Amino acid sequence: MADKIVILGSGESGTGSAVLAKLKGFDVWVSDYGTIAEKYKKVLHQYEIPWEEKQHTQSIILEAKEIIKSPGIPDTVPIVLSAKEHGIPIVSEIEFAARYTQAYMICITGSNGKTTTTTMTYQLLKDAGYNVGLAGNIGKSFALQVATEKFDYYVLELSSFQLDGMFHFKANTAILLNITPDHLDRYHDNFQEYIDSKFRILQNQGADDHFIYCDDDPVIKTELDKRKIEAQAAPFSLQKTIEQGAYLEEDTIHFKTPKESFDMSIHDLGVKGKHNVYNSMAAGLAGSLNNIRKNVIRESLTHFKSIEHRLEPVIKVHDIMFINDSKATNVNSTWYALESMNTKVVWIAGGVDKGNNYDELTKLVKAKVKAIVCLGIDNKKLHDAFDGLVPKIVDTDSMYEAVNTAYLLGEDGDTVLLSPACASFDLFKNYEDRGEQFKEEVRRL
Ligand code: ADP
Repeated sequence: MADKIVILGSGESGTGSAVLAKLKGFDVWVSDYGTIAEKYKKVLHQYEIPWEEKQHTQSIILEAKEIIKSPGIPDTVPIVLSAKEHGIPIVSEIEFAARYTQAYMICITGSNGKTTTTTMTYQLLKDAGYNVGLAGNIGKSFALQVATEKFDYYVLELSSFQLDGMFHFKANTAILLNITPDHLDRYHDNFQEYIDSKFRILQNQGADDHFIYCDDDPVIKTELDKRKIEAQAAPFSLQKTIEQGAYLEEDTIHFKTPKESFDMSIHDLGVKGKHNVYNSMAAGLAGSLNNIRKNVIRESLTHFKSIEHRLEPVIKVHDIMFINDSKATNVNSTWYALESMNTKVVWIAGGVDKGNNYDELTKLVKAKVKAIVCLGIDNKKLHDAFDGLVPKIVDTDSMYEAVNTAYLLGEDGDTVLLSPACASFDLFKNYEDRGEQFKEEVRRL
């Protein structure tokens, strides 16, 4: 009898894991407490994998030799608690799938910038002609690609929830972009637990591996003081000179690795803003440490264009520029958005506040924002933080109203920036839906 593997949650990662487990000869059972999307049901059917939805049948689940849990399911749900009580190992998709590939792993985590840096790094490897897959919290699941493709390299975006289910996995090159409070609801309101989770990206690394990190991040620095790092360190900084790594001097980025030293002007980067200088440094270092030549790195970073919903330019209407940064779901990402603005801003903000502290934004808002359009069901915290600081604050509760109000408040040369600093679930399905609706309303102006 084959060992039983149970998959909890049949979204992208769960369905991919089910397929891989099935192909590896396990007795697979998929259980989802919600409803499974049609496209995933089709896949399960195609591979003859049994599943259930809208329930978790405990008797079947507790027969598992191992459980692969979707990162979206918290540890506190009853079925996870009982599996733990029964001593059943629970792992994430990445931990499971990595057992079946020898590919070189470049892994990216952080509170903000993961998708951007992952995409940038992937593009760099592709431009260099590497046989590389893109996975993690992005696109097609890692497990499905391990099951159906043969890549030599993977660039993986890892969330803290993925990392929590990883134990033996090793990142050959790990990138840690930044750590600011986020998702604390899943970490018992304990920031240190979240920090520990992010640092799991370093576990199992040895002297041949690389660790690329932001040297300007106070949380990372404090944590590093407490730890011994086995891997070769490659820090990056906008504030100080770095011997081995990357740093900024005036407008020039210096990359220095044992492989190569080279420079690049920030004006040549395809994407703008301080945060993207950090992201480009991280991606460039990953490329250089993995033998990609400087000319390829420069070209690739020059041609990289912003990805959807991340400081994405939409259009100019009567000389007012509209920018979609719907993915900014916390204060830190909005800080970088505002920081990168060179004009007066009409700022559309609000939604579901995950415990935001807006103080960090005060200075930038005072300097750049001429009006705030609150877009949310409860806008009290925005008013508390910014009433009196900004000439105009208006409440709206639909994207139509928000865009049209912002348009009226804007003048030639201004920018209307959607960068909510909040999650979207009060008025939208998700941040993509919020960004799509924004673009639609802007195009209708
Ligand atoms: P993630 O995948 O970590 O959520 P994204 O690349 O999707 O990150 O970007 C999320 C938001 O954060 C966007 O609004 C983007 O403009 C902003 N951002 C991107 N890179 C960084 C960074 N290095 N530091 C802070 N904010 C960033």
